[in-house]
Amino acid sequence: MQPKDTTQNEAFKGFTNTACPFYPCHKGVETEFNCLFCYCPLIAYECPGPYKVFTDKNGLKRKDCSDCILPHNGYLRSWNFIQKWLERPVIWDGHEQTLPPVRRLRAAPGGAEPTDDQPAGDAPATDEPAKAD
Ligand code: SF4
Repeated sequence: MQPKDTTQNEAFKGFTNTACPFYPCHKGVETEFNCLFCYCPLIAYECPGPYKVFTDKNGLKRKDCSDCILPHNGYLRSWNFIQKWLERPVIWDGHEQTLPPVRRLRAAPGGAEPTDDQPAGDAPATDEPAKAD
């Protein structure tokens, strides 16, 4: 059991820091601006983006996430998005954004190898609480 399973209070899933000098750092957020995932946990993993790729001064491929609002758009929506994509993280190899976006791996029935048979991007459509697959 996780501590979060012992409470109905979902306040840990998001907050807005309006005192931040960079707030709002991304345009297009439609509901509560979630600052919890500032420095996105998916930066080193596959994600649906959108992102652009650049090479830093050390020659490493990096994501430029300026156009992405997925970790910020609504407390519950962004929380659920991050939790789902971290269930089976896949290391990002530095490739460019794909169209359609990379698909999220999901558990296959009976403990078989994970599959990627869900809608492209698997972006959250609602603020519904996270559910187990
Ligand atoms: S593109 Fe969006 S989801 Fe992907 S790493 Fe950047 S901020 Fe996170």
